[in-house]
Amino acid sequence: MSICKCQRLDLVVIRKIFLYNYATYMEPIGLMHIKTVYIPQEFIDAVYLEFKDTGLKGFERLALFAGQKKGIEFFVNYLLYPKQQLVKGPDGLSFHVDGDELERIGDWLYQNNCCLVGQIHSHPTGAYHSEADDTLALITTFGGLSIVVPDFGNSDHNLKGSAFYRLLPETGWTKLYPNQITSLIKITD
Ligand SMILES: [Zn+2]
Repeated sequence: MSICKCQRLDLVVIRKIFLYNYATYMEPIGLMHIKTVYIPQEFIDAVYLEFKDTGLKGFERLALFAGQKKGIEFFVNYLLYPKQQLVKGPDGLSFHVDGDELERIGDWLYQNNCCLVGQIHSHPTGAYHSEADDTLALITTFGGLSIVVPDFGNSDHNLKGSAFYRLLPETGWTKLYPNQITSLIKITD
């Protein structure tokens, strides 16, 4: 797993320490109560560069957003690239993260007192949640997000043409409407 930290690391660390106490005693479990997710612009930019680069080699790619909850808000402080096997098979492109890596991610999240809020991955063409995306998503917490970026990130910018899904108890991975996305996702400078 490689980790890209925000350049304003000091600020993030301070916020993290504050949230540690808050989160330990007061935060609700899960992500269903989260109304706004703040993602730093530099993480979005980094993801697009990574997706384009991997796309040139003909592969999809997966990244994870991790951070802390504060009330109904979630602050993404870490961008994680899990160790993943990139596959070009007869059924198309895919990526696989094995059990050891999932465990390693879980340990890392625990040690850094944060949790995952969502995953983001690239597609060679259209942005949609495939059957495999539904069943094999790394995010398994209700209220969690999955973002699919089309055309290896080449035709899209700042998630404008990306598809957003949220894992809901009744309907599983559920596509979000543009107005839901606008109120839920805030890209920060
Ligand atoms: Zn997919």
